[in-house]
Amino acid sequence: SPTNACLLPNLCDRLAPKLWDMLQGAATAASDRGWHLYLVGGAVRDVLLAEDGRPLQLEDIDLVVDGFHNAATVGAGVELANVIRDGFPGARLDVHGTFQTAALLWSARSDLGPLCVDIATARTEFYPYPAANPEVEASSIRQDLYRRDFTINALALRLSAPRAGELLDFFGGYLDLRAGLIRVLHANSFIEDPTRIYRAVRFAVRLHFELESQTVDYIHYAIASGAYERSRSERERAPALQTRLKAELKYILQAPYWRPAAHLLADLDAWRCLHPDLVLTAELWWQVRYLDRCLHRLDRDNQLDRWRLRLEAIVAALPHRDRLDVAAALQLPADSQERLSTLNAAEPAIATVLSKDSPPSTIVVALRRYQQPLLLLVLARAPKLLRRRLWQYLAHWSHIRPLLDGNDLRARGYKPGPQYREILDALLAAYLDGKLANRAAAEHWLEQHYPLNAR
Ligand code: ATP
Repeated sequence: SPTNACLLPNLCDRLAPKLWDMLQGAATAASDRGWHLYLVGGAVRDVLLAEDGRPLQLEDIDLVVDGFHNAATVGAGVELANVIRDGFPGARLDVHGTFQTAALLWSARSDLGPLCVDIATARTEFYPYPAANPEVEASSIRQDLYRRDFTINALALRLSAPRAGELLDFFGGYLDLRAGLIRVLHANSFIEDPTRIYRAVRFAVRLHFELESQTVDYIHYAIASGAYERSRSERERAPALQTRLKAELKYILQAPYWRPAAHLLADLDAWRCLHPDLVLTAELWWQVRYLDRCLHRLDRDNQLDRWRLRLEAIVAALPHRDRLDVAAALQLPADSQERLSTLNAAEPAIATVLSKDSPPSTIVVALRRYQQPLLLLVLARAPKLLRRRLWQYLAHWSHIRPLLDGNDLRARGYKPGPQYREILDALLAAYLDGKLANRAAAEHWLEQHYPLNAR
């Protein structure tokens, strides 16, 4: 088992040389001060998973420092960050929180970048334990790891000497990695933090892992107990939770694997975390996928924020008031909130326009006040008959331009002014309604309907 093996060669082989140098430098600086430095979280997981020796593209690295001999080391993470920055200049250093977590950021233009290194200080410094006791030293990193989400994310790799390269695996994370299991660390984990449900799904789908069965039970229990609803009504706790929930939703809904992830969330009934009545029914699931097909065809150059439209389509399944509550709680951007708010009135108005047997020109005039993303939402939710006409508008009619433009009018001697708009609109309407086949027909039409000598 690698718990006993030295993992430094694995790390060295898979990291970019500069990054490896940086970690070595940080480890030496920590050992010189009598501290321990650990690589923790996703990076350890990914190093162990990349068994075929593929290089790892790590852009986020979490380090934890501990092993202090007195209580005066609250700023250990910050001190190490400064040492690293001296050796690898060009980083921005941010310090946040009571625990003085340091974040170093190198931009894509630097040798190391793009890279973010978080250095947290494990929390023994707040407990004046006797210094030389190795159990206490181990217990602070253990505590740090115990606060994490899943066993596979709660592994630590010691970077500093002595015993550099040792894997610290208190919760069986290594075996779970081998078995392909997402296992939570304790029973209340999802009640404490419902975003972990979304994280569990994200890791399961991304790594092709399974949710361990007891973990699934804990998820069901957390959802059934309404823990999430309670936290939503607790105003103080809710904003931070909602921000993290939005971040997880974004992560999932913009990933290439968003379909199986959304499906797994539905299997777990976890969409209820957004609202107790939110269920991804077969019909809603169809709508979301249909929206996606339309996006592929209409938004070829990826101008639209697809993850948000997917989320809006899901949230739109709720009644008007609830949609707005969810969007506001998640602090969705203003245009998302605006769309969800307009949808209620826009949907019947658009249905009325489309249901009459109006010519294309009338539809174009009526619909051009609406923006494309709103129409896409309406399209995904519309009944079949309306869908066909709305699709025609979005895919064809809305792109059609009149056969002549302002320059043509000027070249023909029309005096520039407000009537240009009127003429061009009338030309467009005639073209949309199939009255003009080509440019020559448009020129003829112009002479007939807007004769020059009458102007
Ligand atoms: P990714 O490769 O997707 O970035 P990651 O494991 O690095 O995966 P992060 O979201 O960057 O994921 O989190 C870093 C680490 O912080 C995780 O590995 C986990 O140990 C811990 N963590 C993150 N979010 C939570 C949470 N909600 N609850 C508990 N621990 C968390």
